[in-house]
Amino acid sequence: MSKQAEKDKLERQEYGSHERFSPYGIMASYGFSPKKALGQNFLNDLTVVKKIVDASEAGPEDLVIEVGPGLGVMTTLLAERAGHVAAIEIDRELSPVLDPLALKYPNLDVIYDDVMRVNIGKLISDIRLSKPELKHVKVVANLPYYITTPIIMMFLEQYAGKLTSLTFMVQKEVAHRLVSPPGGSEYGAISVSVAYYSNAHICFDVPSSCFVPRPKVDSSVVNMSVYTVPPVSPRSTDFMFRLVRASFSQRRKMFVNSIANASLPGVSKECVVKALETLGISPSIRGESLGVKEFAALSDLLS
Ligand code: SAM
Repeated sequence: MSKQAEKDKLERQEYGSHERFSPYGIMASYGFSPKKALGQNFLNDLTVVKKIVDASEAGPEDLVIEVGPGLGVMTTLLAERAGHVAAIEIDRELSPVLDPLALKYPNLDVIYDDVMRVNIGKLISDIRLSKPELKHVKVVANLPYYITTPIIMMFLEQYAGKLTSLTFMVQKEVAHRLVSPPGGSEYGAISVSVAYYSNAHICFDVPSSCFVPRPKVDSSVVNMSVYTVPPVSPRSTDFMFRLVRASFSQRRKMFVNSIANASLPGVSKECVVKALETLGISPSIRGESLGVKEFAALSDLLS
């Protein structure tokens, strides 16, 4: 047994009751070094891994898409609980760790690619074609920090109609932005998107000590239960989100001025003032005070 493996074994004995284990031990046995550029901060606490899988409510009728399986610890638990798991990992150097798992679990596919380049819709249809018993699609991930927002926006904007839920571990500060109600400093364009597509809540916080290498910030797990029918039905969601983006691009400005500066076709400052008055909203309001219902109503009046 190598020195590292021995240290790992001792550590497992020592921390057994806390269910800690050493990702460094796994990495050492495969000669793998974590890559900061890929956000490779691995969980070192099985209790946290179990809590994330519990929060996802993955079960035998679910197809789970895991983004970034890393060393495969959460992947293993997901494969034991879910009907099928498609794990998408950008780093091919993790194949010596992940390929044996795919051999052990016939319900696990590992796809080596950038999640942003994968056709998720096709992936879901292909798997469901051979396994029609899979009723729900759930996305679960300890997301890499460097690309959190694009991944969340991609799943919501492009695939919400195909998904039941998303359970993501993200930076604590990002988690608060995702679930923020209107009015607060954390509220932004992404909060409006999350509120439009899902019913979201923070499940629990995870201290930075639960990862190796240890990041500078703490994390939180957020669960987004995707609406089958969104809370509002604007005539054009595309236009509504253009309004949302425009109003948060200059968040210190009044909504009227942000929209006027955005030069949306056919939308003058006078139109915006009139639309706000029609809805009984003060013309001096800032975008950060408008909820998804107001954005939808304004979008219908202005589009
Ligand atoms: N799931 C593991 C865990 O909880 O310990 C690893 C999580 S680690 C924070 C993020 C993982 O996402 C890494 O394995 C990293 O290689 C992978 N990753 C980073 N960028 C990715 C991308 N664009 N597409 C797919 N996977 C990516």
